[in-house]
Amino acid sequence: MMNERQLLMIPGPVEFTPAVLQALGRPTTGHLAGDFMEAFGRALEQLREVFLSPSGQPFVVAGSGTLAMDMAAANLIEPGDRALVVDTGYFGERFAAILERYGAVVERVPAPAVGDAPALEAVAAALQRANYKVMTITHVDTSTGVLADVRRLAALGRQHGALVVVDGVCSIAGEEFRQEEWGVDVALTASQKAIGVPPGLALLLAGPRAMEAFRRRRHPVGNYYADWTQWLPIMEAYEGRQPRYFATPPVNLIWALHTSLGQILREGMETRFARHQRIARAFRAAVAALGMRLVPAGPDKAAHTLTAVYYPEGVDGALLAAVREAGVVLAGGLHPAIRTRYFRVGHMGAVSHSDILATVGAIEQGLARLRYTFEAGAGLAAAQAVLLAQD
Ligand code: PMP
Repeated sequence: MMNERQLLMIPGPVEFTPAVLQALGRPTTGHLAGDFMEAFGRALEQLREVFLSPSGQPFVVAGSGTLAMDMAAANLIEPGDRALVVDTGYFGERFAAILERYGAVVERVPAPAVGDAPALEAVAAALQRANYKVMTITHVDTSTGVLADVRRLAALGRQHGALVVVDGVCSIAGEEFRQEEWGVDVALTASQKAIGVPPGLALLLAGPRAMEAFRRRRHPVGNYYADWTQWLPIMEAYEGRQPRYFATPPVNLIWALHTSLGQILREGMETRFARHQRIARAFRAAVAALGMRLVPAGPDKAAHTLTAVYYPEGVDGALLAAVREAGVVLAGGLHPAIRTRYFRVGHMGAVSHSDILATVGAIEQGLARLRYTFEAGAGLAAAQAVLLAQD
């Protein structure tokens, strides 16, 4: 019989903690109830700590990560503005399309190959060629598992006067990210990944330079729902624990956000970054020990929130069904150039050492079922060695 208890190890949604799920299931309060205003206000304050952005203006709106991207573009771009997209895969392309929708003239700096990121020199050269108002970076491209060097890229963008926007949907609250220290003007994510809340919230923090650019707009924002003119007074009101309405917030999701952010901050950001790094290294060690190859071009380009792996010789997408039989759900390919040749494993949020061991164990079971030749337990031993190392 199929196991009815499955471990969800895809790059979002992820496994959520019982406390977060309980917050979702509690009786819904009014959106202006005193205790709800307190929870929402506190969540906004907590977001500054999670993004390491003490002077950021948070926006929390019902929607998915794509709405957060839409909000960044709608509020920063005016027709004819130039935007530079550092393109590491599927989601860079999406950002380009969104920016163009608001009238931006977009240039992309492509990665030299799938699984790679554009060289800093290529980005610097592009920044020199024109005056860009906005530069976007996908911190972790979920289609390839490629990690961009946001710290260096953001410094370059700033140096050339661009507002730096980071799509952190697959990174923030898992991958090391320091919005203010790194000079990131807008950072955005969604609830369902390392933030640890079921899908439905778009989260964005805008730094002072981004808010200033927004205030200096000459044209109204070309999107009614995403317009910061509507949302800024609402966010300020919740932080001041004052009632104010624009559009009904997703009350239970915000209760859950408040709970999850509390858990994240109790763990501490540095501990959390280190946990994600350790688990990613353990999983990559298992992949290598099983004779499989990563999509990212090198370990310094590999994310710590998910891993993209090529199927080994003689194995195909049937592996995912076989792993599911063993109780673990993984994701297939997404990048159009290699879609059927690889799979993806999410390991972010509340993911534990034992979750990653269970995942490696299930992959070994799936590989065995497909008659792939390997030494049973080799992946598990390699992962365990990294998890137990005293460094
Ligand atoms: N950017 C990245 C890097 C993502 O991983 C995703 C979701 N996989 C998105 C944007 C879009 O988010 P959503 O699916 O929540 O709209």
